[in-house]
Amino acid sequence: MSVRVRFAPSPTGFPHVGNIRTALFDWLLARNMGGTFILRVEDTDRSREVEGAREGIKEALRWLGMDWDEGPDVGGPFAPYNQSERLSIYQPLYQQLLAQGDAYKCFCTSERLAGLRKSQEEAKKPTMYDRHCRQLSDAPEGQPFVIRLKMPLEGKTVLHDYLRGDVEFDNALVDDPVLIKSDGFPTYHFAAMVDDHLMEITHVIRAEEWISSAPKHIRLYEAFGWQQPIWVHPSIILGPDRKRLSKRHGATEALAFRDEGVLPDALVNFLALCGWSPGDDREVMTRRELIEAFSLDGIQVSPAIFDHEKLKWMNGVYIRQMPLPVFGAACRPYLGEVDAPDEYIEAVVALEQERVRTLSEIKEATSFFFDEAFEYDEKGVEKWFRQGDPRPILEAMVRRLAAQEHWSADGLAPIADAVAEELGLEKRAPVIHTARVAISGRTGGPGLFDMMTVMGKDRVLRRIHRTLETHSASAP
Ligand code: GLU
Repeated sequence: MSVRVRFAPSPTGFPHVGNIRTALFDWLLARNMGGTFILRVEDTDRSREVEGAREGIKEALRWLGMDWDEGPDVGGPFAPYNQSERLSIYQPLYQQLLAQGDAYKCFCTSERLAGLRKSQEEAKKPTMYDRHCRQLSDAPEGQPFVIRLKMPLEGKTVLHDYLRGDVEFDNALVDDPVLIKSDGFPTYHFAAMVDDHLMEITHVIRAEEWISSAPKHIRLYEAFGWQQPIWVHPSIILGPDRKRLSKRHGATEALAFRDEGVLPDALVNFLALCGWSPGDDREVMTRRELIEAFSLDGIQVSPAIFDHEKLKWMNGVYIRQMPLPVFGAACRPYLGEVDAPDEYIEAVVALEQERVRTLSEIKEATSFFFDEAFEYDEKGVEKWFRQGDPRPILEAMVRRLAAQEHWSADGLAPIADAVAEELGLEKRAPVIHTARVAISGRTGGPGLFDMMTVMGKDRVLRRIHRTLETHSASAP
């Protein structure tokens, strides 16, 4: 049996990492088994479509390198399947159900349904359709209708879930679901099941929230006499407070992580481990390792926790593995407009490669390298420029730096010791700190001599002069 799986998002929003995690399980299974991964856009609810969502779905998958293998066109690259283009496929199938007596037309108005719901709520009964039109002898002429599936009135339906074992449902408590809406468009219950069958989907991997609808879907398969797929319902993803992952916890849309400067490989690695384990304690895994290790048996049913801090840590690991030119190029979109030669930019970001956890952190971390009018940190000024006079240190630095020929971190480091000695200081720390604030405005950052090396002699001297003019206690 060749594995065929699908990601079936509705274009009612931009894909959430929870959806993408489910899609990733599909993709990893397909790649592990040499199977087929299909993208199917479930766009039958026109009123809820969000502008740009279709593009967002494709863009998120492309960004994450989750390529799909099939579409309605021949050849590639493939456009996804769109359910709205498949209406003529659905029509004979629901006609068949009507003819078989497995479905019926329901003419109930929305007012009647609302009244029914209200009275059921008042009586504290489960809210469900009362199957009023199921035995209708004289169907009203020319009235709008929906088509509903007949659920068995008694007995049980059993969902065989690959991860959870058997889940039983009492048929009497399951609604007769609407299959076709009054506008002629199918609902998820109909279109997704028909498509899963026609597209020969072997494993339906979908969010846990669909479990309660499973008896309807199983009934539909039975009515058509089709073989059911293997049902797989992974658990939802929770935030660290064990509440459903939402915007309160930070970014949730897949593409928002790109804006944050998370690398696609890091997000894929992280999401794969949200609810799946390779069976050992590996955490940082390449795409190839994930594909090789993936199996449905490694999916855990206990809810996965999405920990942003852990994602940032993992992203930092990936950042440090990047060859410098690749890292430099990846940083560019996050730096904004900087007016500097490419070699300078690359040398600057190289100093932060060991430190940043996301690419978006690079802008703040390096802004002073590109801005001659950088601000001075207030605490640094107070400690190093006001509590003592920085002039002797900075002047001695200027003199020695100006005479320095070998402009490298190794060549520059002895200067701090020499200045400390010249001024009779016990330690070189005040020299280092004063110089750091003078050339960067900051109290932290990369090593002073690394910074100086990258900035170059002219820039360093210019900055110390500026500090002497603006911040030296004895300045005129
Ligand atoms: N369109 C459904 C959704 O976005 C698909 C669920 C499924 O994978 O079957 O929730």
